[in-house]
Amino acid sequence: MPEDVMQMPLQYLKGVGPRKAADLKKAGLNTVEDLLFRFPRRYEDRSRMQSIISLRPGMTAAVTGTVLNAGLAQTRRPGFKLFSALVQDDSGHIQAVWPNQAFLKDVVKSQQRIVLFGKVELWGSRGLQITDPEFEIIKDAALRDPGSASADPPDSQLHTGRIVPVYERTGSLTTNMQRRFVWQALSQLPDGGFDPVPADILERERWPDRKTALWQTHFPSSDTAIEALNAFTTAAQRRLVFEDFFVFQTGLALRRHENAQVRKLLVSKVDDRIRQCARAVLPFKLTEGQRDALADIVADMQRTWPMQRLLQGDVGSGKTIVALLAAVVAMENGFQVAFMAPTEILAEQHYRTIAKMLDPGRRSGATGGTPYRVALLSGRVTSATRRDLLPAIERGDIHLIVGTQALIQQHVTFKALGLAIIDEQHRFGVVQRGTLAAKGSHPDVLVMTATPIPRTLALTECGDMEVSIIRGLPPGRQPIKTIVKADSRRDEAFALMREEITRGRQVYVIYPLVDESEKIELKAATAMSEQIARIFPEFRVALLHGRMKGDEKDAVMQRFAAGQLDILVSTTVVEVGVDVPNATLMVVEHAERFGLSQLHQLRGRIGRGRHASTCVLLYQAPWTDDARERLKAMAETSDGFVIAERDLRLRGPGDFFGTRQSGVPMLRAGDLTRDADLLERAFEEARRRVDGGILHPDLQAYVRSVWQRQFGLITVG
Ligand code: ADP
Ligand code: MG
Repeated sequence: MPEDVMQMPLQYLKGVGPRKAADLKKAGLNTVEDLLFRFPRRYEDRSRMQSIISLRPGMTAAVTGTVLNAGLAQTRRPGFKLFSALVQDDSGHIQAVWPNQAFLKDVVKSQQRIVLFGKVELWGSRGLQITDPEFEIIKDAALRDPGSASADPPDSQLHTGRIVPVYERTGSLTTNMQRRFVWQALSQLPDGGFDPVPADILERERWPDRKTALWQTHFPSSDTAIEALNAFTTAAQRRLVFEDFFVFQTGLALRRHENAQVRKLLVSKVDDRIRQCARAVLPFKLTEGQRDALADIVADMQRTWPMQRLLQGDVGSGKTIVALLAAVVAMENGFQVAFMAPTEILAEQHYRTIAKMLDPGRRSGATGGTPYRVALLSGRVTSATRRDLLPAIERGDIHLIVGTQALIQQHVTFKALGLAIIDEQHRFGVVQRGTLAAKGSHPDVLVMTATPIPRTLALTECGDMEVSIIRGLPPGRQPIKTIVKADSRRDEAFALMREEITRGRQVYVIYPLVDESEKIELKAATAMSEQIARIFPEFRVALLHGRMKGDEKDAVMQRFAAGQLDILVSTTVVEVGVDVPNATLMVVEHAERFGLSQLHQLRGRIGRGRHASTCVLLYQAPWTDDARERLKAMAETSDGFVIAERDLRLRGPGDFFGTRQSGVPMLRAGDLTRDADLLERAFEEARRRVDGGILHPDLQAYVRSVWQRQFGLITVG
């Protein structure tokens, strides 16, 4: 039972005109609740303004005073503009300077009251100055729109003389305005409104109620420790972060719970005959991790409700065969299987591997069961083939269909889709997952990812799924050696290439393209490939990039896989899934441009066979600190889970998967790294309540409405 003020659209706040409402909307803020859950970015202690005379070099200080004069100052450096203002309080005056912000001449003016917050420095003969300070112009309450003044506190109470919240500026919304809006919204909250956090949790944690927590988070009392506020560890802040996680996790738990009430049409059974069929397909002994994962999956398939399982395993851990064995079980039960991959290269590769493994000729000693009919449906399948294929799928003549996104197009219909497998799930959104599943009557869904998702992110993105993790790699793998080198030492990489190829191995050279559709970018990759062909006239070199036609790509990939090419110069189109065990060396050009997870995926193309592998990361100086961190992490570990955690820390969850379409929901207040412990607790509390049937009906109604609003398509239940 959401209270009305919280769900009130922001236009109803005083001072929010259409332009500001639009800016707020762009920042994802529609309701009062949205605004109040937008935490300050940080806090400043302005409760004790320092007197100017007490300032010393090296201090970070807040002062308030009057602008005596302000203007652009002369500097000797051409093109460099320095705006400066002389500010005076009762005790003295100090110069404030802002480098390269000439526009301030229209903002900071003589006679204004101003608050400065920044670092005090000694500046040669000029004495003390505050360099590039945060500042606020204080308008006297009497000077503002008289009609609106009544409900607001005077500015001096909001922006100075207290610990003040600093919000991120959005569009035309300054931090001052947000402070005013937040104050206004808080002032209108009734006491004893609905609280999504259950009372027993509040009591146990000694957390404040919702309204108190919101006040303390936005306008902390002056005895609050500023360090705790800025670390977001006060009880009020943690309570709100918990709430944020808890509401979301309750939504996921409801979804999972409701899924378990669904009765699927096609329930698989497993008997000795089927086990025999699966064994006949298997070209090697499964690792323990693979066996456990398969056991989870097959158990799910025999349940009355649809499987929703995420199979995680580092690059090269052998997920494909596990999925294929699950497919055999479904097919032996007479059901169809859809196997969706994110790129054509990968779909083709899966199709070839699977067709080979399922080839009746290979299955000697098998029970001689029905040959499985496997087909490929990707963007490059000719329309004639497609014309035959689609009805065959609809009739049920095709048992296993491998494909790209083409599989979820409207005109693809199945007779009896029992199992949907989605490879490299992070490339697809939650929505696509749903669309493929909707092609059947609640089929089992298995999604796989080689991007080891940090646990906290897995909880948010996949909290409604069960998770199996394949730990460890198939036997005989040797660790990959990773070397970071300045690209001026490219010759050493070339020497390594020659060595490996002479030993009969193959090499990837990876060239980054920010945008494969950019002609200039493509030219650079092409030039690279030509240069390599010139340097190694004795070797067979080919180029692979995303703009090539489907069958050209496939032809190059097949030649490389068959050992008919020595060097494959490629863009990141080989990033996911490609499996050529004889390739043992990868040279990455401009490694500083790649993200950490992406580098890990790329490196996963080597080290897939018996031979030792090496990855050379060439960087071009100057590189950023972040880039240095990334390459260092690569050299230090090849454990995908460790890398994923580091990547999350470096980039933040929003960027983790590169795109928003991945379906990673925006959390309002929480931070997956900083607040990992709260997320775990929210997850457990939510599941316990939903599964135990002790979820309060008001909370359930609230969660549904939040999900509806925030995630639109992805509804609960
Ligand atoms: P990923 O998990 O990255 O998708 P793949 O399924 O492509 O990995 O498997 C990587 C390689 O390991 C393939 O060449 C596959 O044939 C091989 N492989 C998988 N499982 C085993 C195993 N149990 N023993 C030996 N080789 C295996
Ligand atoms: Mg794979």
